[in-house]
Amino acid sequence: MFSRSRRNLARWFTLSMGSILVIFTGILYFLEAKDQMSAFDQELYQTSRIMAAAVEDEIYQNRRHITLEDVPVLGGEALPVESKLVFARWYTPERQLLQFIGPIPPEQLENASGFETIQAREYPSLNLSADLQLRQLTLPVFQEGQLIGYLQVATSLEPIETTLWSLRLFSMIGVPTALGAISLAGWFLGGIAMQPIRESYERLKRFTADASHELRAPIAAILNNAQFGLLEPIDHHEQHIRLENVVEIAESMGTLVSQLLFLARGEGQIAPEALQLIDLVSLLQKLAEKYTHQAQTKNLTFTCELPEQPVLLKMNPDLIVQAVSNLLSNACRYTPSGGSVQLQAFPQSHWMIIQVKDSGIGIPETDLPHIFERFYRVDNVRSRETGGFGLGLAIAKQIAQAHGGQMTATSNPGQGSTFQIKLPLA
Ligand code: ATP
Ligand code: MG
Repeated sequence: MFSRSRRNLARWFTLSMGSILVIFTGILYFLEAKDQMSAFDQELYQTSRIMAAAVEDEIYQNRRHITLEDVPVLGGEALPVESKLVFARWYTPERQLLQFIGPIPPEQLENASGFETIQAREYPSLNLSADLQLRQLTLPVFQEGQLIGYLQVATSLEPIETTLWSLRLFSMIGVPTALGAISLAGWFLGGIAMQPIRESYERLKRFTADASHELRAPIAAILNNAQFGLLEPIDHHEQHIRLENVVEIAESMGTLVSQLLFLARGEGQIAPEALQLIDLVSLLQKLAEKYTHQAQTKNLTFTCELPEQPVLLKMNPDLIVQAVSNLLSNACRYTPSGGSVQLQAFPQSHWMIIQVKDSGIGIPETDLPHIFERFYRVDNVRSRETGGFGLGLAIAKQIAQAHGGQMTATSNPGQGSTFQIKLPLA
């Protein structure tokens, strides 16, 4: 699925970037060709103007009409393009041929004035390549407002053809190479773009698998108990125990399902309008009373150090109670009899810290980075005995983050652990 999406991403990227590249190269080529042609035409026009002016001067100075003698000397060596001219022709105002250099032209001028591109193969006597194109200019020449004849010149388009051919060659090699590079970049970028999606998909898959796995065990237990209860002959006492088991397991399943729903629902922060201004100290005091009792039953020493003054914080009290309860119940659960559990709250720069410290079994260094992951248990056997799902810390962390806070843990295996929830003060 991900490879296909990645391929599609790369394909679309290549297609879109490739089209842009091809269109851009096409436009550049067209503009360059147009530029070259207009510069070429300009030069041809200048040449023919100089040629025409020479004739005009000759006729003007001698105060006579143009004769055949005037024409062959036109321009001479001074002309820049003249040497490259394929032909030059003079026609009378009546469009009759007067004189020419180059191949034999038609007697009558038929072209309209202006530029024209013609094929070299029309003039086999020139011995030019048949594919070559010529640029021809037919220029009416006026003297003192009076038409004195037509000058027609032509020159080979070879220099432009050569330049444009190099440009085409460059594009023919450059564009496919660039397309190859683009598709490689597309594949690479597609991989980068797919990475977070792949990761969250993997997380979701693992979460779903873990959740189903966790639910399968209690369902099997309920079924087992229920089937036993249906057995004949009925032992009322045994049946009672079985039903109690079913109730207990169903309750624990209910807790699991609501925990899963909480985790699935809440990503991101709680909306500010959903937060209330609550005194954290009194909230924690109530919680401490509950856990003092629980710690006593496990023979643990429970101490509580809270600020003397009320600390008003914007929070959802139920969620904060749940997060701290998860930490306290872990501390009681993972601290052997005779140990100690401590609940503290104190300000630190612009944070309010809620700290739960115990002298319990601790968490190995390799497990510490993972304990906030859903369904992660340091030791499955040990946790199974103590009845955990591995969701308490994930939930506590999600609650802290939803309040714009953070959650951290430090631990020394065999000596104890310290968990901190940091909530923003202002
Ligand atoms: P749940 O809280 O869902 O009932 P749980 O306690 O196993 O189950 P978490 O609270 O998420 O799950 O804790 C994850 C794991 O981290 C626990 O299984 C336990 O191994 C370890 N752990 C958590 N708190 C402590 C602690 N105070 N001391 C030692 N280990 C701890
Ligand atoms: Mg727990």
